[in-house]
Amino acid sequence: MISFNTPPHTGNEEAHVLAAMKSSKISGDARYGVMCQEWFENELACPKALLTPSCTQSLEMAAILIDIQPGDEVIMPSYTFVSTANAFALRGAKIVFVDIRPDTLNLDEKLIEAAITPHTRAIVPVHYAGVACDMAAINDIAARHGLFVIEDAAQGMMATYQGKPLGALGHMAAYSFHETKNITSGGEGGLLILNDERFIHRAEIIREKGTNRSQFFRGMVDKYTWVDLGSSYLPSEIQAAYLWGQLEMADVITANRLATWNTYQDAFADLQAKGKLVLPTIPTDCQHNGHMFYLKCRDLAERTALLAHLKQNEVMAVFHYVPLHSAPAGQKYGRFHGEDRYTTAESERLLRLPLWYGMERDIRNRVIDAVRAFYK
Ligand SMILES: *Cc1c(COP(=O)(O)O)cnc(C)c1O
Repeated sequence: MISFNTPPHTGNEEAHVLAAMKSSKISGDARYGVMCQEWFENELACPKALLTPSCTQSLEMAAILIDIQPGDEVIMPSYTFVSTANAFALRGAKIVFVDIRPDTLNLDEKLIEAAITPHTRAIVPVHYAGVACDMAAINDIAARHGLFVIEDAAQGMMATYQGKPLGALGHMAAYSFHETKNITSGGEGGLLILNDERFIHRAEIIREKGTNRSQFFRGMVDKYTWVDLGSSYLPSEIQAAYLWGQLEMADVITANRLATWNTYQDAFADLQAKGKLVLPTIPTDCQHNGHMFYLKCRDLAERTALLAHLKQNEVMAVFHYVPLHSAPAGQKYGRFHGEDRYTTAESERLLRLPLWYGMERDIRNRVIDAVRAFYK
């Protein structure tokens, strides 16, 4: 069976992990942790990047940082991973789901404004498949209504919008280094990106269990104490060392994924021309990162048949997401604003093909052949 994903591994990781293990400090914010954060601050030209144990926890930190209170409303797509919503629901927010665009499957920027109420505090665009949302429009709406923009850029590392990296576009952003993402910190991990200096001081406190320990380590205070809400949002040095091995190869990993992605796109172009399936759309101001290759079938029945056909041919394809507004917790903690024109329909048609760093040519070709055989 051809697996759906293989975690990225470049060969650089072992030496760094061993070096970290042999160092005298293996908890968070040690040598590799600091090196990784500086790498991101440089890459994103942001005032602060903080490693976290997951993108989920980065989003939780963002919700605390913007002081989400019970009754506040947060706008996001329903077509996303549960963590996008959970992070804000945990603080008592009402989640307001807005429909997606059928081309990119991203939040439809034209529908956001109608969903804003006096309780709205933030917009959370999700850059699906590493393809940016229309951030010019979203940031403009947010500025006019005094809202925060928190990018769920879990899938967006190394992708750009109008030449700027995803994650550098909102007030804050979250990356994921889970094993299913383009870059991993040893299976689990994340990053909180702060694009506004105002948040740095409090973010360091929240991340250090609500204490001013970061200031203490810098010699700015003579003891550290509990000063705010917080939790344990630091990954270990072992994870940072693994991540460092991947950051050294980030360009290579991205180029390799894009090459496989482009081969898929070319291989199915004629099927799209014949109207048999729909391939991803990349807006001209977006450079994606080859995070995901999906195709859209006619409907749920055809997707179910294609999935079964691929499985028979030893290809593990998958689909996602169950729209959050149709899930039990989504109904409890959220509401859908406006009409669900595309969220449910598109999620029922979408199918993701295997794609990973270093995917062998013959494996990729077997996937292509299996899909083409179905449409013969
Ligand atoms: C993967 C993912 C997350 C969660 O990332 P973790 O690092 O596993 O917490 C959140 N949002 C989106 C859109 C994702 O794809």
